[in-house]
Amino acid sequence: MKQLMLLVCLGVVCLFSGLVSAQEATPEATPDTLMPTPGLVASPTPIPKPLPVSTLTEERATVEFFFSTLAQGQTGVIHVYGQGMAGARARFMSSLVDFFPMNDGFYGFIALSMEQGARAYDLDIFVWYDDETRQTINTQISVDIGAFIKQDVNLAPDKSYLVDPEIERNELARLESVFSTITLERLWDSSGFQMPIPGGELTSPFGAFRTFNQTLQTRHTGWDIRATLGQPIMASASGAVAYAGFMDIRGSIVIIDHGYGVFSTYNHFSQIHVTRGQTITAGQVLGTVGSTGRTSGPHFHWEMAVNGTFVDANQFMLMWKPT
Ligand SMILES: [Zn+2]
Repeated sequence: MKQLMLLVCLGVVCLFSGLVSAQEATPEATPDTLMPTPGLVASPTPIPKPLPVSTLTEERATVEFFFSTLAQGQTGVIHVYGQGMAGARARFMSSLVDFFPMNDGFYGFIALSMEQGARAYDLDIFVWYDDETRQTINTQISVDIGAFIKQDVNLAPDKSYLVDPEIERNELARLESVFSTITLERLWDSSGFQMPIPGGELTSPFGAFRTFNQTLQTRHTGWDIRATLGQPIMASASGAVAYAGFMDIRGSIVIIDHGYGVFSTYNHFSQIHVTRGQTITAGQVLGTVGSTGRTSGPHFHWEMAVNGTFVDANQFMLMWKPT
C-alpha cells in the first residue's frame, strides 16, 4: 500500500554545546548480537579521501578544510597536522571541540545547529606539540541559511497531549544527557555510515518547520524514511547502545554512540532488539518500525547528533569521514 500521508514526529532543535566528559563504552556483547542479520547489511563502499577544499599553513601546523561553507544543520570535517604535533582542539561558538587522533594527524567535526544564524563565526584551533610548545590558528567559518520546508501535522486525539512544550523540553534534556557523555574513541569502523534501511526513501526532511495540531510550533530534528510496520531497522554504523527505552515523543527509541561525540537515534519502534551497553555492528538490526511516541502513523524517524547538536543525518552519512 502506498503511504501518502505526512508521517510525523519530533520537534525542537539544537541541544547544548560543548564536549566534556569522557566515558568508555562498556559493551556486553553476546555472540548472536554481534551477527548482522543476513540480507540487511548494505555493502559498504568506503568513500576515498577527497582533496581538501582549502588549506591553511601557519608555522608548523597545516589545517585542511573539507568544506567551503556549511549550511545550518550541516557538519564539516577539519584535519590538522604538523611535525611533532601531540594534540588539537578548537573553540567554535564558545564550545570546545576535541580533535581525534588518526595516523595522519587530528580530525574534528564542526556541527551546526539548524538554528545557527547565517553569518561568519570565529574558529580558533589550538594545537600542542611534543616539545610542549603551543600554537593557535585563528580563522572563520561561514554559515549559510538552510533550505527548510514548512509542514502541518495532525495528531490523533489520543496523542494530542504530546503538543505540550514541556514534554518536548523534558525529552530534549534527557537526550542532552545522553549526547554529553562522549566516548573518546572512534567506534564507527571502515564501513562508515549507511542508511538504516538500505535503499530507503527519504520522505520528510530534517529541519522542517512544523506545526502540530495548529498549536505547537517546532522543528523536525531528523529525517523520516519510508517504512512499513514491523520492518527491521539497522544500525547506520558500528558503535555501542547508549540508550534503549521509551521517551514520550520519540516513543521506543535506540541511541547508538559512535564515539567522538557522534550519536544516531532510531525512533518510534514497535519492538527493540538491543539493550544499553551492547556493542553494535554496522547493519545490525536494532528493532522494528512502529508508531510509538508522537506520530501520525507507523514510520521511521532517524536522527544524528554531533557534539551535542542535531545535524542533518543524510549529509553526515554522505560526507567523507576518516576511518
Ligand atoms: Zn521524523
